[in-house]
Amino acid sequence: MPQQSPLDVPEGDPFGPHNLPYGVFSTAADDRRRVGVRIGGFVLDAGAAAAALGSPFADLLGRSSLNPLLAAGHTAWRDVRRALTAWVTDPGHRPTVEPHLVPLDEVTLHLPYEVADYVDFYASEHHATNVGKMFRPDGDALTLNWKHLPIGYHGRSGTIVVSGTDVVRPSGQRKAPTDPAPVFGPSVKLDIEAEVGFVVGTPSELGRPVALGDFEEHVFGLFLLNDWSARDIQAWEYVPLGPFLGKSFATSVSAWVTPLEALDAARVTPPARDFPLQPYLDDTDLDRPGGFDLRISVSINGQEVAQPPFATMYWTAAQQLAHMTVNGASLRTGDVFGSGTVSGPEVGQRGSLLELTWNGRDAIELTDGKRTFLEDGDTVSLTAWAPGPDGTRVGLGEVVGRIAGSR
Ligand code: CA
Repeated sequence: MPQQSPLDVPEGDPFGPHNLPYGVFSTAADDRRRVGVRIGGFVLDAGAAAAALGSPFADLLGRSSLNPLLAAGHTAWRDVRRALTAWVTDPGHRPTVEPHLVPLDEVTLHLPYEVADYVDFYASEHHATNVGKMFRPDGDALTLNWKHLPIGYHGRSGTIVVSGTDVVRPSGQRKAPTDPAPVFGPSVKLDIEAEVGFVVGTPSELGRPVALGDFEEHVFGLFLLNDWSARDIQAWEYVPLGPFLGKSFATSVSAWVTPLEALDAARVTPPARDFPLQPYLDDTDLDRPGGFDLRISVSINGQEVAQPPFATMYWTAAQQLAHMTVNGASLRTGDVFGSGTVSGPEVGQRGSLLELTWNGRDAIELTDGKRTFLEDGDTVSLTAWAPGPDGTRVGLGEVVGRIAGSR
């Protein structure tokens, strides 16, 4: 028996050579931040491996952030991925590549890109319907515009944090309809929103909209995102301009970005549209379907509470990109946009505690007690997988956050 190589990834591992997500890491022995590629239970120091192999991508990969790679564009993304695939699968490269593998449990993971702008959408019909029923019980659950455009708002890019970062319970104003006056204090309705985030690589020119069909030219990859939400602060402040301090205290993202190319087998057709769409949003004749079949799992303190299905999202990421640029707004490398809370039609598929507990009315049972909203010390974890080539699974990097008490 030859000695087992870290590159002999067990069959069925969702982080096999068909996946190869990108991140940025450091180690206790070497605190330089550098680009890493996850393979099985290891992280490949991609820049060091590229240099050792004499690769032309050594400069692009030998950086402290993914931004230079993101900015390099679609052709470079494809070529770098081909090279990486060869490095981790070709036995001839092993003696050169193996010294640059670090066990996953020995690395510290960092925010892998510098976030430019951040936009968050509201693309799940089931989520929007549930929220509408709770917040506007006397009106239509969906607002009149909902099926004509992907509703979004601009978030706070500077408070996007990497998985593993504690989330301090925010304080703010709240006023329940029955309260005579607003009060100030730590949020008592701290919640999660299980979402999928997308990061832009190739920028666009100011004044020139990005067409639906150019999605792959601009978007590098996707990742899990938790849009922490203080429902009590949000409910009092959001009229008439939308989310503000109830959202901006923290947004957690996975340390791993899955390139879109790894998700070719996960493409699915989005749900049937109920209204004809404006031409810039009409995706009926696109070459490939715009949806992604991502199976998300939400856990609190290790106990699964929901399984939101991303394939049920009404608006696709390509439509969101087209919509956010249709007025001529330009894209920058590092722009992040979130899908909106992912909720399916079933109760167990809802991606927020707001929906799972129906705004606190129906507590959920955990082994360590009941929950309506999050308590200090709770740890929330999002994981997901997607169908990969030849019956494999593509694992998405987790996003984890623990609630720290207010300060
Ligand atoms: Ca959200």
